[in-house]
Amino acid sequence: VSGETSCVATLVAPRTIELREEPIPQAGDGGIVVRVRAALTDGTDLKAYRRGHPKMPMPTRFGHEFSGDVAAVGSGVRSFSVGEAVMCAHTAPCGICFWCSIEQEELCERLMPEMLLGAYSDYIAVPARVVQRNCFSKPAHVTYPQGAFLEPLSCVVHSVSLLAARPGSQVAVLGNGAFGILHALLLAREGMRPLVIGRRASRAAFARSLGLDAIEADATQARDAIDERTDGRGADAVVECTGNGEVWERAADLTRRGGTISFFGGLPSGARVSFAAARLHYDEVRLISPFHFTPRDVRRAFELIAAQAFPLEHLISDRYRLADVSAAFAHLDAGAGMKVLIEP
Ligand SMILES: [Zn+2]
Ligand SMILES: [Zn+2]
Repeated sequence: VSGETSCVATLVAPRTIELREEPIPQAGDGGIVVRVRAALTDGTDLKAYRRGHPKMPMPTRFGHEFSGDVAAVGSGVRSFSVGEAVMCAHTAPCGICFWCSIEQEELCERLMPEMLLGAYSDYIAVPARVVQRNCFSKPAHVTYPQGAFLEPLSCVVHSVSLLAARPGSQVAVLGNGAFGILHALLLAREGMRPLVIGRRASRAAFARSLGLDAIEADATQARDAIDERTDGRGADAVVECTGNGEVWERAADLTRRGGTISFFGGLPSGARVSFAAARLHYDEVRLISPFHFTPRDVRRAFELIAAQAFPLEHLISDRYRLADVSAAFAHLDAGAGMKVLIEP
């Protein structure tokens, strides 16, 4: 691959993406270089596009959900070979820090500083740690776009495992974007009864087209629908997937006594929320806040994708060429689209 270049979408200022021609990256020791075939957009990418990201000072490459073909392997790589199709997460834990040692690898000290960015490129270098722990050979029956769901689905697997809801539980999922829909699909598969709640009518209709129970409502209007499904008790669990502080607080009004609220959608740093202490204590409402994923979650996500458990390609609202990545983000910035596929 020497002598060619890689087109790299580079965020140079808020709402400004430059396509830069760079040398094709080299594979580090134990690492691989992947020719990207499919990359997806995520809320984090849109946030970085709109206002920058503290962990991604500009100019920065971006995009973190991808699949592709191995273009080069570094020394010592035996698990993958050139030409093989792969799907990867963009982080992997170190295995030796305190959090790794107590099986909270989602909080590993090395995770965020070493995360892999640049999926909106022709080529991306995947470091040894990710190759060893969070990279999988893509089965032939899985498409590249499906394979690119490995990372977002890993987040959802982690969230649902932390929730540990009993089978049959009525779970209110707040937000009908891609993460709300993925939560509902996985909860339903695991025997729970999800209700997807979101304001946008088109997305509620989309959720129903996937066979999900969904209503067009915001969190303040949802209590009646939940009461109808729970003899007035409230939801056994509420999963917040909007990343909106007001919705975080309203989640407490939708939960039954002894129920659980899971805050999946992160808030900007510095944000604060408040809850009625009596509600939390005397009604024993449990709060959890799942973040990121562990290698176990990634493996489970891989197995779900390989089993074609979910109609993932239906979540892709639009497809763009890498050359048109600016148009893709302008589209998302305008509030349109769900998951957008970027193809080099
Ligand atoms: Zn660690
Ligand atoms: Zn993501």
